[in-house]
Amino acid sequence: MAEPLHKGEQVFRGIPVSAGVCRGKILVLGKTQHTIHRQPLLDSQVSEEVNRLERALVQTRHEILEVQRKVSHAMGAKEGSIFDAHLLVLEDRTLIDEVVRVITTEKVNAEYAFHQVAERYATTLAAIEDDYLRERAADMRDVTSRVLNNLLGHSENIDLRHLPEPCIIIAHDLTPSNTAQMDRTKVLGFATDIGSKTSHTAIMARSMKISAVVGLKDASQHLQTGQYALLDGFNGTIIINPTDQTLFEYGQLIRKQVTLQEKLRDILFKPAVTLDGHRIFLSANIEQAGDAEAVKESGAEGVGLFRTEYLFINSDRLPTEEQQYEAYRQVATALKPHPVVIRTLDLGGDKFLSHLQVPTEMNPFLGWRAIRFCLQERAIFRSHLRAILRASADGNVKMMYPMISGLDELIQANALVDEYKAELRKEGVPFDENMEIGAMIEIPSATLIADSLAKRVKFFSIGTNDLIQYTLAVDRMNEKIAHLYEPTHPAIVRLIKATVDAARRNKIMISVCGEMAGDPVLTPLLLGLGVDELSAAPPLVPQIKFMVRRLKTSETVDLATFALNCESATEILARCQDVARRSAPSLFESKA
Ligand code: PEP
Ligand code: MG
Repeated sequence: MAEPLHKGEQVFRGIPVSAGVCRGKILVLGKTQHTIHRQPLLDSQVSEEVNRLERALVQTRHEILEVQRKVSHAMGAKEGSIFDAHLLVLEDRTLIDEVVRVITTEKVNAEYAFHQVAERYATTLAAIEDDYLRERAADMRDVTSRVLNNLLGHSENIDLRHLPEPCIIIAHDLTPSNTAQMDRTKVLGFATDIGSKTSHTAIMARSMKISAVVGLKDASQHLQTGQYALLDGFNGTIIINPTDQTLFEYGQLIRKQVTLQEKLRDILFKPAVTLDGHRIFLSANIEQAGDAEAVKESGAEGVGLFRTEYLFINSDRLPTEEQQYEAYRQVATALKPHPVVIRTLDLGGDKFLSHLQVPTEMNPFLGWRAIRFCLQERAIFRSHLRAILRASADGNVKMMYPMISGLDELIQANALVDEYKAELRKEGVPFDENMEIGAMIEIPSATLIADSLAKRVKFFSIGTNDLIQYTLAVDRMNEKIAHLYEPTHPAIVRLIKATVDAARRNKIMISVCGEMAGDPVLTPLLLGLGVDELSAAPPLVPQIKFMVRRLKTSETVDLATFALNCESATEILARCQDVARRSAPSLFESKA
């Protein structure tokens, strides 16, 4: 629940996921408030009111049929049939006749009559000790809400691409594709009840430079569209009705940020090299072809992770080989001669296609995801790999596979690449014969067989977001267990070290492209563990470079040695914070 910071304001605390402070009016999504007033009718108005009810019922029926059609198409007929129960509510003559009776005998408005009757039915059903009937109560309330929306002329579907005015979005949850579609000129920031730092929604927010807070529990229930708020993406708070004192304090914080940005600008195009001359390769993570410009502006030396799935999520149908080629070519050409590491399609988990029929899974992050999906969906994988290969003729393109859990997956994927290379050769289509292929290390089993994998690839890239999730068995999306999601857990430190050692033994490059690489607190540790490259969202790259340039190798190695011998995640984190804050204090002045 909310607590005051200064008298007269309400503060909700969550998890900070995308830095920055913004203020403005809030827009609460997915919460239509039905303020139902009882309006008496004249005799002459009664029959039109019954007609109005009938029209709302027909409209609701159309809407439900449309939702059912979409769900059946995307998830299968069984899932779609769930909406049969909703349709039955609309066809329940006892219920409808009762509503008509209330309108005509009590001479009251349709929304009032419908709400009264439907709520009485739902309450009765919900009170019965029977799971089936309780579910029918939920169906009843769902349908009631839709009918009332139609009677009151409300619409649930707010298009985030075309908002009328700048605002802070508040929602129970937002999908990565909701976020990707936000109009950055209108969305000042966003806050959600659920989510965590490494959910793809949070990653997208950082990449788009939209201040964001997640994990606010039930804040969306307490907030109303139109309230004035200040969102603090550094510390993870949203403050409703901020007082002058709070606004003054935030003014100071923003001034510190401006000073820091000036410092970061000074080093933007300088090399990422430690005080004693150790050179690190610093690259950027991108989600869309248009991000290439942001990569250049960030001072990154290329792209360490191109999450290609957004090309698929953001369109109504599967992108063709040609469309994909165009997107990859655009990035490769824009950043030439810098490398662009294109990650093969990582669908599944929290990233789905509304236009592809994929069965619902109990554990999507353990399911039909990433390379597993691609190896079975050969037609999709073929056009994807061909597009990447073709783009390799236009720049310094490399490619890597996500979610490799065993050697067979790597061997199969490499065999397909060889097959498509042969096709392109035959067709006379140019591509880079020596395009480097790497494997993401994001499952503990991959670290344990890293030597075998390393013999068959040119580089490793550690996906710490998933590596942490799979090693510690902590869902990266779940705010309830976010405290257990510990990048400095001794197991994670040791897995990174083991992966680095395997890369060294096999003389291949090793990069980290998970969110750990974008956290300046962890830069000294990752350098000390021996990684060659860090890849982070473009807005985070300057801070990481700033940190690298203030470190001494001996200090980072001492930190890594300590971490490898330490039994406590908290102690490792404290030591990392100590080294980081001492080395570059100005990076941390925005934190409360
Ligand atoms: C990771 O898992 O760390 C990673 C970089 O991939 P993604 O976040 O897209 O799963
Ligand atoms: Mg991953």
